Amino acid sequence: MTTPTSSPAKSLSGTPVVPGVAAGPVLHVRGEVSPEAIARFGDGGFHDELAALEAYEEAAAAVADTFSTKASAAEGAAAQVLTASAGLARDKGLRSAVSKNLQAGQGPVEAVQGAVEQFVTIFTNMGGLMAERVTDLRDIERRVIAHLVGEPPPGVPTPDEPSILVAEDLAPSDTSGLDPSLVTALVTERGGATSHTAIIARQLGIPCVVGAAGVMAIPAGTFVVVDGGTGVVEQGADPDEARARVEESHRLREELASWSGPAATSDGMPVKLLANVADGPSAESAGAEPVQGVGLFRTELCFLNRKDEPSVEEQADIYAGVLSPYSDGRYVVVRTLDAGSDKPIAFATQEGEENPALGVRGLRLSFGNPGLMDRQLDGIAAAAERTGTETWVMAPMVATVSEAADFAEKVRSRGLKAGVMVEIPSAALLAHRMLEVVDFLSIGTNDLTQYAMAADRMATDLAHLTDPWQPAVLQLIAITAHAGTEAGKPVGVCGEAAADPLLATALIGMGISSLSMAARAVRPVGAQLGRVTFETCEAAAEAALGAPDPMAARAAVRDLLGT
Ligand code: PEP
Ligand code: MG
Repeated sequence: MTTPTSSPAKSLSGTPVVPGVAAGPVLHVRGEVSPEAIARFGDGGFHDELAALEAYEEAAAAVADTFSTKASAAEGAAAQVLTASAGLARDKGLRSAVSKNLQAGQGPVEAVQGAVEQFVTIFTNMGGLMAERVTDLRDIERRVIAHLVGEPPPGVPTPDEPSILVAEDLAPSDTSGLDPSLVTALVTERGGATSHTAIIARQLGIPCVVGAAGVMAIPAGTFVVVDGGTGVVEQGADPDEARARVEESHRLREELASWSGPAATSDGMPVKLLANVADGPSAESAGAEPVQGVGLFRTELCFLNRKDEPSVEEQADIYAGVLSPYSDGRYVVVRTLDAGSDKPIAFATQEGEENPALGVRGLRLSFGNPGLMDRQLDGIAAAAERTGTETWVMAPMVATVSEAADFAEKVRSRGLKAGVMVEIPSAALLAHRMLEVVDFLSIGTNDLTQYAMAADRMATDLAHLTDPWQPAVLQLIAITAHAGTEAGKPVGVCGEAAADPLLATALIGMGISSLSMAARAVRPVGAQLGRVTFETCEAAAEAALGAPDPMAARAAVRDLLGT
Protein backbone atom coordinates (compact mmCIF):
# COMPACT_ATOMS: atom_id res chain seq x y z
CA MET A 1 0.00 0.00 0.00
CA THR A 2 1.21 3.54 -0.74
CA THR A 3 2.84 5.21 2.27
CA PRO A 4 0.19 7.33 3.92
CA THR A 5 0.94 11.04 4.14
CA SER A 6 1.55 12.52 7.56
CA SER A 7 -0.23 15.78 6.80
CA PRO A 8 -3.02 16.80 9.20
CA ALA A 9 -6.41 15.19 8.60
CA LYS A 10 -8.59 17.00 6.05
CA SER A 11 -11.96 15.85 4.95
CA LEU A 12 -14.69 16.55 2.46
CA SER A 13 -18.05 14.91 2.13
CA GLY A 14 -20.67 13.85 -0.36
CA THR A 15 -23.81 11.76 -0.47
CA PRO A 16 -23.20 8.34 1.10
CA VAL A 17 -24.74 5.64 -1.09
CA VAL A 18 -23.16 2.29 -0.22
CA PRO A 19 -21.99 1.84 3.39
CA GLY A 20 -18.60 0.44 4.38
CA VAL A 21 -15.11 1.80 4.98
CA ALA A 22 -12.16 1.55 2.57
CA ALA A 23 -8.70 3.10 2.63
CA GLY A 24 -6.06 3.41 -0.04
CA PRO A 25 -4.42 5.64 -2.61
CA VAL A 26 -6.55 7.76 -4.92
CA LEU A 27 -6.74 6.57 -8.51
CA HIS A 28 -8.23 9.03 -11.01
CA VAL A 29 -10.43 8.03 -13.91
CA ARG A 30 -9.64 9.97 -17.01
CA GLY A 31 -12.77 10.80 -18.98
CA GLU A 32 -11.96 12.34 -22.37
CA VAL A 33 -8.70 12.81 -24.22
CA SER A 34 -7.50 16.27 -23.20
CA PRO A 35 -8.23 19.00 -25.79
CA GLU A 36 -4.74 20.38 -25.13
CA ALA A 37 -3.15 17.10 -26.26
CA ILE A 38 -5.34 17.06 -29.38
CA ALA A 39 -4.42 20.69 -30.15
CA ARG A 40 -0.70 19.94 -29.65
CA PHE A 41 -0.96 16.96 -32.00
CA GLY A 42 -2.67 19.05 -34.71
CA ASP A 43 -2.61 17.21 -38.03
CA GLY A 44 0.20 14.97 -36.75
CA GLY A 45 2.76 16.26 -39.29
CA PHE A 46 2.48 13.16 -41.54
CA HIS A 47 3.99 13.59 -44.99
CA ASP A 48 0.97 12.05 -46.73
CA GLU A 49 -2.36 10.41 -45.99
CA LEU A 50 -0.87 6.91 -46.27
CA ALA A 51 1.47 7.65 -43.37
CA ALA A 52 -1.50 9.03 -41.41
CA LEU A 53 -3.51 5.88 -42.21
CA GLU A 54 -0.62 3.74 -40.96
CA ALA A 55 -0.63 5.69 -37.69
CA TYR A 56 -4.39 5.03 -37.41
CA GLU A 57 -3.86 1.32 -38.10
CA GLU A 58 -1.22 1.10 -35.40
CA ALA A 59 -3.45 2.91 -32.89
CA ALA A 60 -6.50 0.75 -33.75
CA ALA A 61 -4.43 -2.45 -33.47
CA ALA A 62 -3.06 -1.39 -30.08
CA VAL A 63 -6.59 -0.63 -28.84
CA ALA A 64 -7.88 -3.96 -30.19
CA ASP A 65 -5.02 -5.81 -28.46
CA THR A 66 -5.88 -4.15 -25.14
CA PHE A 67 -9.48 -5.33 -25.48
CA SER A 68 -8.37 -8.87 -26.41
CA THR A 69 -6.03 -9.06 -23.40
CA LYS A 70 -8.83 -7.88 -21.11
CA ALA A 71 -11.22 -10.38 -22.73
CA SER A 72 -8.92 -13.31 -22.02
CA ALA A 73 -8.80 -12.29 -18.35
CA ALA A 74 -12.61 -11.88 -18.13
CA GLU A 75 -15.44 -14.39 -18.08
CA GLY A 76 -18.95 -14.79 -19.48
CA ALA A 77 -20.76 -11.75 -20.83
CA ALA A 78 -17.88 -9.37 -20.00
CA ALA A 79 -15.47 -11.47 -22.09
CA GLN A 80 -17.92 -11.50 -25.00
CA VAL A 81 -18.37 -7.73 -24.92
CA LEU A 82 -14.62 -7.13 -24.81
CA THR A 83 -13.98 -9.56 -27.69
CA ALA A 84 -16.64 -7.81 -29.74
CA SER A 85 -15.00 -4.44 -29.01
CA ALA A 86 -11.64 -5.81 -30.15
CA GLY A 87 -13.32 -6.86 -33.42
CA LEU A 88 -14.91 -3.45 -33.82
CA ALA A 89 -11.56 -1.68 -33.34
CA ARG A 90 -10.11 -3.86 -36.12
CA ASP A 91 -13.14 -3.38 -38.37
CA LYS A 92 -12.26 -2.93 -42.05
CA GLY A 93 -15.28 -0.71 -42.70
CA LEU A 94 -14.16 1.68 -40.00
CA ARG A 95 -10.64 1.68 -41.45
CA SER A 96 -11.90 2.49 -44.93
CA ALA A 97 -14.09 5.33 -43.59
CA VAL A 98 -11.02 6.79 -41.84
CA SER A 99 -9.00 6.37 -45.06
CA LYS A 100 -11.66 8.20 -47.10
CA ASN A 101 -11.70 11.09 -44.64
CA LEU A 102 -7.90 11.32 -44.77
CA GLN A 103 -7.98 11.37 -48.56
CA ALA A 104 -10.52 14.18 -48.35
CA GLY A 105 -7.87 16.21 -46.53
CA GLN A 106 -8.93 15.78 -42.92
CA GLY A 107 -6.37 15.46 -40.13
CA PRO A 108 -6.13 12.05 -38.40
CA VAL A 109 -8.15 13.01 -35.29
CA GLU A 110 -10.90 14.58 -37.36
CA ALA A 111 -10.87 11.58 -39.72
CA VAL A 112 -11.39 9.15 -36.84
CA GLN A 113 -14.12 11.30 -35.29
CA GLY A 114 -15.94 11.57 -38.63
CA ALA A 115 -15.70 7.84 -39.33
CA VAL A 116 -16.98 6.93 -35.87
CA GLU A 117 -19.82 9.43 -36.24
CA GLN A 118 -20.80 7.76 -39.50
CA PHE A 119 -20.92 4.33 -37.82
CA VAL A 120 -22.78 5.72 -34.80
CA THR A 121 -25.53 6.92 -37.16
CA ILE A 122 -25.67 3.55 -38.94
CA PHE A 123 -25.80 1.57 -35.67
CA THR A 124 -28.40 3.89 -34.14
CA ASN A 125 -30.65 3.54 -37.18
CA MET A 126 -30.33 -0.24 -37.09
CA GLY A 127 -31.66 -0.17 -33.51
CA GLY A 128 -31.68 -3.21 -31.23
CA LEU A 129 -28.41 -4.74 -30.18
CA MET A 130 -26.47 -2.75 -32.77
CA ALA A 131 -27.62 0.51 -31.17
CA GLU A 132 -26.22 -0.71 -27.87
CA ARG A 133 -22.80 -0.90 -29.50
CA VAL A 134 -22.67 2.89 -29.83
CA THR A 135 -21.17 3.19 -26.34
CA ASP A 136 -18.44 0.76 -27.36
CA LEU A 137 -17.77 2.74 -30.56
CA ARG A 138 -17.34 5.91 -28.52
CA ASP A 139 -14.99 4.08 -26.20
CA ILE A 140 -12.92 2.92 -29.18
CA GLU A 141 -12.90 6.48 -30.57
CA ARG A 142 -11.52 7.89 -27.28
CA ARG A 143 -8.89 5.18 -27.03
CA VAL A 144 -7.70 5.40 -30.65
CA ILE A 145 -7.43 9.19 -30.45
CA ALA A 146 -5.57 8.97 -27.11
CA HIS A 147 -3.10 6.55 -28.70
CA LEU A 148 -2.66 8.79 -31.74
CA VAL A 149 -1.96 11.91 -29.71
CA GLY A 150 0.24 10.05 -27.23
CA GLU A 151 -1.93 10.17 -24.09
CA PRO A 152 -2.58 7.22 -21.75
CA PRO A 153 -5.90 5.47 -22.54
CA PRO A 154 -8.95 7.16 -21.04
CA GLY A 155 -11.17 5.30 -18.63
CA VAL A 156 -10.29 3.30 -15.53
CA PRO A 157 -6.57 2.53 -15.30
CA THR A 158 -5.78 -0.92 -13.92
CA PRO A 159 -4.55 -0.35 -10.37
CA ASP A 160 -1.51 -2.26 -9.19
CA GLU A 161 -2.66 -2.13 -5.58
CA PRO A 162 -6.08 -1.81 -3.91
CA SER A 163 -7.17 1.76 -4.65
CA ILE A 164 -9.99 4.25 -4.27
CA LEU A 165 -11.41 5.13 -7.68
CA VAL A 166 -12.14 8.85 -7.97
CA ALA A 167 -13.94 10.32 -10.99
CA GLU A 168 -16.09 13.21 -12.15
CA ASP A 169 -18.80 10.63 -12.85
CA LEU A 170 -18.70 7.08 -14.15
CA ALA A 171 -20.17 5.64 -17.34
CA PRO A 172 -21.18 1.98 -17.75
CA SER A 173 -18.19 1.41 -20.07
CA ASP A 174 -15.85 2.66 -17.35
CA THR A 175 -17.13 0.23 -14.79
CA SER A 176 -17.57 -3.03 -16.70
CA GLY A 177 -15.17 -5.59 -15.30
CA LEU A 178 -14.10 -3.57 -12.25
CA ASP A 179 -12.38 -5.87 -9.79
CA PRO A 180 -13.63 -5.14 -6.24
CA SER A 181 -10.42 -6.50 -4.75
CA LEU A 182 -8.44 -3.78 -6.58
CA VAL A 183 -11.04 -1.00 -6.64
CA THR A 184 -12.15 -0.94 -3.04
CA ALA A 185 -14.40 2.17 -3.12
CA LEU A 186 -15.91 4.61 -5.61
CA VAL A 187 -16.06 8.35 -5.06
CA THR A 188 -17.45 10.76 -7.64
CA GLU A 189 -17.56 14.51 -7.80
CA ARG A 190 -21.02 14.46 -9.38
CA GLY A 191 -23.92 12.02 -9.45
CA GLY A 192 -26.75 11.33 -7.06
CA ALA A 193 -28.03 8.44 -4.98
CA THR A 194 -29.68 6.90 -8.05
CA SER A 195 -26.78 7.48 -10.44
CA HIS A 196 -25.10 4.75 -12.44
CA THR A 197 -22.10 4.89 -10.10
CA ALA A 198 -24.31 4.11 -7.11
CA ILE A 199 -25.93 1.17 -8.89
CA ILE A 200 -22.54 -0.30 -9.91
CA ALA A 201 -21.09 0.14 -6.42
CA ARG A 202 -24.07 -1.63 -4.94
CA GLN A 203 -23.61 -4.50 -7.39
CA LEU A 204 -19.92 -4.76 -6.56
CA GLY A 205 -20.62 -4.43 -2.85
CA ILE A 206 -18.00 -1.70 -2.33
CA PRO A 207 -18.36 1.57 -0.36
CA CYS A 208 -19.48 4.51 -2.47
CA VAL A 209 -19.83 8.27 -2.02
CA VAL A 210 -21.25 10.46 -4.80
CA GLY A 211 -21.59 14.22 -5.24
CA ALA A 212 -18.35 14.80 -3.30
CA ALA A 213 -17.48 18.33 -4.43
CA GLY A 214 -13.74 18.91 -4.68
CA VAL A 215 -12.71 15.27 -4.65
CA MET A 216 -11.08 15.46 -8.11
CA ALA A 217 -8.64 18.00 -6.67
CA ILE A 218 -7.12 15.36 -4.36
CA PRO A 219 -3.87 14.38 -6.11
CA ALA A 220 -3.56 10.84 -7.47
CA GLY A 221 -1.81 8.53 -5.00
CA THR A 222 -2.97 10.44 -1.89
CA PHE A 223 -3.95 8.07 0.93
CA VAL A 224 -7.63 8.55 1.79
CA VAL A 225 -10.21 6.86 3.97
CA VAL A 226 -13.70 6.62 2.46
CA ASP A 227 -16.70 6.08 4.69
CA GLY A 228 -19.67 5.06 2.53
CA GLY A 229 -21.93 5.27 5.59
CA THR A 230 -21.27 8.91 6.44
CA GLY A 231 -20.12 10.17 3.03
CA VAL A 232 -16.82 11.45 4.44
CA VAL A 233 -13.58 11.22 2.43
CA GLU A 234 -10.63 11.87 4.74
CA GLN A 235 -7.02 12.69 3.84
CA GLY A 236 -4.11 12.36 6.24
CA ALA A 237 -5.83 9.84 8.56
CA ASP A 238 -3.75 7.78 10.98
CA PRO A 239 -2.92 4.59 9.00
CA ASP A 240 -3.34 2.20 11.96
CA GLU A 241 -6.70 3.68 12.82
CA ALA A 242 -7.71 3.52 9.16
CA ARG A 243 -6.72 -0.15 8.96
CA ALA A 244 -8.74 -0.95 12.09
CA ARG A 245 -11.79 0.82 10.64
CA VAL A 246 -11.49 -1.06 7.35
CA GLU A 247 -11.14 -4.40 9.17
CA GLU A 248 -14.20 -3.68 11.31
CA SER A 249 -16.13 -2.76 8.18
CA HIS A 250 -15.12 -6.05 6.48
CA ARG A 251 -16.21 -7.98 9.55
CA LEU A 252 -19.55 -6.22 9.45
CA ARG A 253 -19.93 -6.85 5.73
CA GLU A 254 -19.29 -10.58 6.21
CA GLU A 255 -21.88 -10.63 8.97
CA LEU A 256 -24.36 -8.98 6.59
CA ALA A 257 -23.57 -11.38 3.77
CA SER A 258 -24.28 -14.37 5.97
CA TRP A 259 -27.73 -13.09 6.89
CA SER A 260 -30.25 -15.46 5.38
CA GLY A 261 -33.68 -14.17 6.33
CA PRO A 262 -36.56 -14.18 6.81
CA ALA A 263 -36.57 -10.47 7.58
CA ALA A 264 -37.87 -9.28 10.92
CA THR A 265 -36.97 -6.69 13.51
CA SER A 266 -35.05 -7.99 16.56
CA ASP A 267 -38.32 -8.18 18.51
CA GLY A 268 -39.91 -10.33 15.83
CA MET A 269 -41.95 -7.93 13.69
CA PRO A 270 -41.89 -9.49 10.21
CA VAL A 271 -40.78 -7.29 7.32
CA LYS A 272 -41.25 -8.16 3.66
CA LEU A 273 -38.10 -7.82 1.56
CA LEU A 274 -38.58 -8.04 -2.21
CA ALA A 275 -36.41 -7.74 -5.31
CA ASN A 276 -36.44 -5.27 -8.20
CA VAL A 277 -35.99 -7.15 -11.49
CA ALA A 278 -35.78 -6.36 -15.19
CA ASP A 279 -36.24 -9.69 -17.00
CA GLY A 280 -36.30 -13.48 -16.64
CA PRO A 281 -32.59 -13.98 -15.81
CA SER A 282 -32.54 -11.22 -13.16
CA ALA A 283 -35.77 -12.61 -11.66
CA GLU A 284 -34.26 -16.07 -11.55
CA SER A 285 -31.08 -14.97 -9.77
CA ALA A 286 -32.97 -12.68 -7.37
CA GLY A 287 -35.22 -15.63 -6.52
CA ALA A 288 -32.23 -17.36 -4.92
CA GLU A 289 -31.85 -14.49 -2.41
CA PRO A 290 -33.85 -14.43 0.84
CA VAL A 291 -36.76 -12.50 -0.70
CA GLN A 292 -40.48 -13.04 -0.44
CA GLY A 293 -41.01 -12.11 -4.05
CA VAL A 294 -40.54 -9.33 -6.56
CA GLY A 295 -41.71 -5.86 -5.56
CA LEU A 296 -40.96 -4.20 -8.91
CA PHE A 297 -40.73 -5.84 -12.30
CA ARG A 298 -39.86 -2.95 -14.65
CA THR A 299 -41.53 -4.33 -17.80
CA GLU A 300 -40.34 -1.48 -20.04
CA LEU A 301 -36.74 -2.67 -19.61
CA CYS A 302 -37.66 -5.79 -21.64
CA PHE A 303 -38.50 -3.60 -24.63
CA LEU A 304 -35.79 -0.93 -24.76
CA ASN A 305 -34.54 -2.28 -28.08
CA ARG A 306 -37.89 -3.10 -29.66
CA LYS A 307 -39.14 -1.05 -32.56
CA ASP A 308 -42.61 -2.66 -32.59
CA GLU A 309 -44.95 -3.63 -29.82
CA PRO A 310 -44.60 -7.35 -29.01
CA SER A 311 -47.74 -9.47 -29.44
CA VAL A 312 -49.78 -10.48 -26.38
CA GLU A 313 -48.39 -14.04 -26.73
CA GLU A 314 -44.80 -12.83 -26.85
CA GLN A 315 -45.39 -10.57 -23.85
CA ALA A 316 -46.96 -13.48 -21.96
CA ASP A 317 -43.85 -15.60 -22.62
CA ILE A 318 -41.53 -12.84 -21.37
CA TYR A 319 -43.61 -12.18 -18.24
CA ALA A 320 -43.94 -15.91 -17.51
CA GLY A 321 -40.13 -16.06 -17.44
CA VAL A 322 -40.19 -13.55 -14.58
CA LEU A 323 -43.15 -15.06 -12.74
CA SER A 324 -42.17 -18.72 -12.82
CA PRO A 325 -39.28 -18.61 -10.26
CA TYR A 326 -41.89 -17.32 -7.78
CA SER A 327 -44.58 -19.95 -8.30
CA ASP A 328 -43.47 -21.49 -4.98
CA GLY A 329 -45.92 -19.37 -2.98
CA ARG A 330 -44.12 -16.04 -3.38
CA TYR A 331 -45.56 -13.12 -5.34
CA VAL A 332 -44.54 -10.72 -8.10
CA VAL A 333 -45.55 -7.08 -8.53
CA VAL A 334 -45.56 -6.31 -12.24
CA ARG A 335 -45.39 -2.68 -13.26
CA THR A 336 -47.06 -1.75 -16.52
CA LEU A 337 -44.94 0.06 -19.11
CA ASP A 338 -43.15 3.10 -17.70
CA ALA A 339 -42.08 4.33 -21.12
CA GLY A 340 -41.01 7.87 -21.78
CA SER A 341 -38.58 10.37 -20.29
CA ASP A 342 -35.44 8.50 -19.17
CA LYS A 343 -36.74 5.19 -20.63
CA PRO A 344 -37.64 5.76 -24.29
CA ILE A 345 -39.49 2.85 -25.90
CA ALA A 346 -39.77 3.12 -29.71
CA PHE A 347 -43.33 1.79 -29.93
CA ALA A 348 -44.76 3.76 -27.03
CA THR A 349 -42.88 6.96 -26.27
CA GLN A 350 -44.39 10.25 -27.38
CA GLU A 351 -41.98 12.04 -29.69
CA GLY A 352 -40.90 15.68 -29.53
CA GLU A 353 -42.10 16.64 -26.07
CA GLU A 354 -40.54 19.78 -24.63
CA ASN A 355 -40.36 18.37 -21.13
CA PRO A 356 -40.68 14.57 -21.25
CA ALA A 357 -40.37 14.02 -17.48
CA LEU A 358 -43.58 16.02 -17.06
CA GLY A 359 -45.12 14.74 -20.27
CA VAL A 360 -47.00 11.74 -21.55
CA ARG A 361 -45.12 8.96 -19.79
CA GLY A 362 -46.05 5.89 -17.75
CA LEU A 363 -49.79 5.42 -17.29
CA ARG A 364 -50.44 8.56 -19.33
CA LEU A 365 -49.43 6.75 -22.52
CA SER A 366 -52.60 4.68 -22.23
CA PHE A 367 -54.87 7.76 -22.42
CA GLY A 368 -54.28 8.12 -26.15
CA ASN A 369 -53.57 4.45 -26.75
CA PRO A 370 -55.76 2.33 -24.43
CA GLY A 371 -55.05 -0.80 -26.49
CA LEU A 372 -51.41 -0.68 -25.40
CA MET A 373 -52.40 -1.08 -21.75
CA ASP A 374 -55.13 -3.67 -22.50
CA ARG A 375 -52.76 -5.86 -24.47
CA GLN A 376 -50.12 -5.65 -21.77
CA LEU A 377 -52.62 -6.57 -19.05
CA ASP A 378 -53.79 -9.51 -21.20
CA GLY A 379 -50.17 -10.68 -21.49
CA ILE A 380 -49.64 -10.35 -17.73
CA ALA A 381 -52.89 -12.20 -16.95
CA ALA A 382 -51.96 -15.02 -19.34
CA ALA A 383 -48.51 -15.36 -17.69
CA ALA A 384 -50.08 -15.36 -14.21
CA GLU A 385 -52.49 -18.10 -15.24
CA ARG A 386 -49.79 -20.17 -16.90
CA THR A 387 -47.35 -20.02 -13.95
CA GLY A 388 -49.84 -19.97 -11.08
CA THR A 389 -47.76 -17.22 -9.41
CA GLU A 390 -49.62 -14.70 -7.28
CA THR A 391 -49.47 -11.57 -9.43
CA TRP A 392 -50.06 -7.99 -8.44
CA VAL A 393 -50.08 -5.27 -11.08
CA MET A 394 -49.36 -1.59 -10.61
CA ALA A 395 -49.26 1.48 -12.84
CA PRO A 396 -46.46 4.06 -12.82
CA MET A 397 -46.91 7.84 -12.80
CA VAL A 398 -50.42 8.00 -11.37
CA ALA A 399 -51.52 11.52 -10.45
CA THR A 400 -55.25 11.33 -9.66
CA VAL A 401 -57.67 9.04 -7.85
CA SER A 402 -59.79 8.56 -10.97
CA GLU A 403 -56.74 7.35 -12.90
CA ALA A 404 -56.13 4.85 -10.08
CA ALA A 405 -59.79 3.73 -10.10
CA ASP A 406 -59.87 3.19 -13.89
CA PHE A 407 -56.64 1.24 -13.80
CA ALA A 408 -57.77 -0.89 -10.85
CA GLU A 409 -60.96 -1.83 -12.67
CA LYS A 410 -59.03 -3.06 -15.70
CA VAL A 411 -56.63 -5.10 -13.56
CA ARG A 412 -59.30 -6.62 -11.33
CA SER A 413 -61.42 -7.59 -14.33
CA ARG A 414 -58.54 -9.93 -15.19
CA GLY A 415 -58.54 -11.47 -11.72
CA LEU A 416 -55.36 -9.73 -10.54
CA LYS A 417 -54.56 -7.54 -7.53
CA ALA A 418 -54.38 -3.83 -8.45
CA GLY A 419 -52.18 -1.07 -7.14
CA VAL A 420 -50.53 2.17 -8.16
CA MET A 421 -47.13 3.71 -7.67
CA VAL A 422 -46.73 6.81 -5.59
CA GLU A 423 -44.22 8.83 -7.58
CA ILE A 424 -46.01 12.14 -7.88
CA PRO A 425 -46.56 14.27 -4.76
CA SER A 426 -50.31 14.50 -5.57
CA ALA A 427 -50.57 10.72 -5.19
CA ALA A 428 -48.83 10.82 -1.79
CA LEU A 429 -51.03 13.63 -0.53
CA LEU A 430 -54.13 11.69 -1.63
CA ALA A 431 -52.84 8.26 -0.54
CA HIS A 432 -55.85 7.66 1.73
CA ARG A 433 -58.23 8.20 -1.19
CA MET A 434 -56.08 6.16 -3.55
CA LEU A 435 -56.34 3.28 -1.08
CA GLU A 436 -60.14 3.41 -1.30
CA VAL A 437 -59.88 2.30 -4.94
CA VAL A 438 -56.75 0.09 -5.08
CA ASP A 439 -55.42 -2.90 -3.12
CA PHE A 440 -51.92 -1.58 -2.48
CA LEU A 441 -49.50 1.30 -3.05
CA SER A 442 -45.81 1.23 -3.89
CA ILE A 443 -43.71 4.33 -3.39
CA GLY A 444 -41.22 5.03 -6.17
CA THR A 445 -38.85 7.23 -4.22
CA ASN A 446 -36.66 7.99 -7.24
CA ASP A 447 -39.39 9.85 -9.06
CA LEU A 448 -41.15 11.02 -5.91
CA THR A 449 -37.91 12.79 -4.96
CA GLN A 450 -37.49 14.21 -8.46
CA TYR A 451 -41.00 15.65 -8.51
CA ALA A 452 -41.12 16.80 -4.89
CA MET A 453 -37.82 18.65 -5.21
CA ALA A 454 -38.28 19.75 -8.86
CA ALA A 455 -34.82 18.33 -9.53
CA ASP A 456 -34.10 16.09 -12.51
CA ARG A 457 -32.99 12.72 -11.16
CA MET A 458 -30.38 12.53 -13.93
CA ALA A 459 -28.90 15.97 -13.18
CA THR A 460 -25.60 15.20 -11.58
CA ASP A 461 -25.24 18.74 -10.25
CA LEU A 462 -28.43 18.48 -8.19
CA ALA A 463 -27.41 15.45 -6.12
CA HIS A 464 -28.01 17.32 -2.86
CA LEU A 465 -31.68 17.76 -3.89
CA THR A 466 -32.32 14.34 -5.43
CA ASP A 467 -31.82 12.73 -2.06
CA PRO A 468 -34.67 10.69 -0.53
CA TRP A 469 -33.54 11.84 2.93
CA GLN A 470 -34.80 15.35 2.08
CA PRO A 471 -37.34 16.29 4.79
CA ALA A 472 -40.10 16.99 2.23
CA VAL A 473 -39.67 13.56 0.62
CA LEU A 474 -39.70 11.83 4.01
CA GLN A 475 -42.92 13.68 4.87
CA LEU A 476 -44.60 12.47 1.67
CA ILE A 477 -43.50 8.89 2.42
CA ALA A 478 -44.79 9.17 5.98
CA ILE A 479 -48.18 10.47 4.78
CA THR A 480 -48.48 7.53 2.38
CA ALA A 481 -47.36 4.96 4.96
CA HIS A 482 -49.82 6.35 7.50
CA ALA A 483 -52.66 6.04 4.98
CA GLY A 484 -51.72 2.39 4.49
CA THR A 485 -51.75 1.66 8.21
CA GLU A 486 -55.16 3.36 8.58
CA ALA A 487 -56.63 1.47 5.62
CA GLY A 488 -55.01 -1.84 6.61
CA LYS A 489 -53.57 -2.15 3.09
CA PRO A 490 -49.94 -2.73 2.03
CA VAL A 491 -47.75 0.26 1.22
CA GLY A 492 -44.27 -0.65 0.01
CA VAL A 493 -41.20 1.28 -1.15
CA CYS A 494 -39.54 0.19 -4.39
CA GLY A 495 -37.21 3.12 -5.19
CA GLU A 496 -33.50 3.19 -4.35
CA ALA A 497 -34.35 4.45 -0.84
CA ALA A 498 -35.36 0.90 0.12
CA ALA A 499 -31.78 -0.30 -0.50
CA ASP A 500 -30.30 2.03 2.12
CA PRO A 501 -30.07 0.00 5.37
CA LEU A 502 -30.16 3.12 7.52
CA LEU A 503 -33.18 4.62 5.79
CA ALA A 504 -34.87 1.20 5.72
CA THR A 505 -35.17 1.30 9.52
CA ALA A 506 -36.93 4.69 9.37
CA LEU A 507 -39.23 3.52 6.55
CA ILE A 508 -40.33 0.48 8.57
CA GLY A 509 -40.85 2.79 11.55
CA MET A 510 -43.18 4.93 9.43
CA GLY A 511 -45.36 1.89 8.75
CA ILE A 512 -44.04 0.81 5.34
CA SER A 513 -44.93 -2.87 4.89
CA SER A 514 -42.41 -4.00 2.26
CA LEU A 515 -39.08 -2.89 0.83
CA SER A 516 -38.12 -3.79 -2.72
CA MET A 517 -34.56 -3.34 -3.96
CA ALA A 518 -31.72 -4.62 -6.11
CA ALA A 519 -31.12 -8.25 -5.09
CA ARG A 520 -27.61 -7.38 -3.91
CA ALA A 521 -28.97 -4.96 -1.30
CA VAL A 522 -31.33 -7.45 0.35
CA ARG A 523 -28.92 -9.01 2.85
CA PRO A 524 -27.46 -5.74 4.23
CA VAL A 525 -30.96 -4.33 4.67
CA GLY A 526 -32.28 -7.55 6.25
CA ALA A 527 -29.33 -7.76 8.64
CA GLN A 528 -29.70 -4.12 9.69
CA LEU A 529 -33.41 -4.53 10.41
CA GLY A 530 -32.67 -7.66 12.45
CA ARG A 531 -30.47 -5.62 14.79
CA VAL A 532 -33.16 -3.16 15.89
CA THR A 533 -36.53 -3.35 17.57
CA PHE A 534 -39.64 -1.97 15.92
CA GLU A 535 -39.68 0.71 18.61
CA THR A 536 -36.20 1.81 17.51
CA CYS A 537 -37.46 1.92 13.92
CA GLU A 538 -40.26 4.22 15.03
CA ALA A 539 -37.74 6.42 16.85
CA ALA A 540 -35.57 6.41 13.67
CA ALA A 541 -38.58 7.57 11.65
CA GLU A 542 -39.28 10.35 14.11
CA ALA A 543 -35.63 11.43 14.17
CA ALA A 544 -35.36 11.47 10.37
CA LEU A 545 -38.63 13.34 9.94
CA GLY A 546 -37.61 15.93 12.50
CA ALA A 547 -34.18 16.66 11.01
CA PRO A 548 -33.58 19.88 9.07
CA ASP A 549 -31.67 18.36 6.16
CA PRO A 550 -30.49 15.01 4.71
CA MET A 551 -27.10 15.00 6.45
CA ALA A 552 -28.65 15.78 9.84
CA ALA A 553 -31.32 13.11 9.24
CA ARG A 554 -28.67 10.48 8.50
CA ALA A 555 -26.64 11.51 11.54
CA ALA A 556 -29.70 11.42 13.81
CA VAL A 557 -30.67 7.90 12.70
CA ARG A 558 -27.07 6.71 12.91
CA ASP A 559 -26.82 8.02 16.47
CA LEU A 560 -30.00 6.25 17.45
CA LEU A 561 -28.88 2.98 15.92
CA GLY A 562 -25.38 3.30 17.34
CA THR A 563 -23.78 2.62 13.93
C1 PEP B 1 -39.02 5.14 -8.79
O1 PEP B 1 -39.31 6.14 -9.47
O2 PEP B 1 -38.62 5.18 -7.62
C2 PEP B 1 -39.12 3.80 -9.40
C3 PEP B 1 -38.98 2.72 -8.67
O3 PEP B 1 -39.31 3.74 -10.74
P1 PEP B 1 -38.13 3.98 -11.81
O4 PEP B 1 -36.85 4.12 -11.04
O5 PEP B 1 -38.16 2.80 -12.71
O6 PEP B 1 -38.59 5.25 -12.46
MG1 MG C 1 -40.29 5.91 -11.38
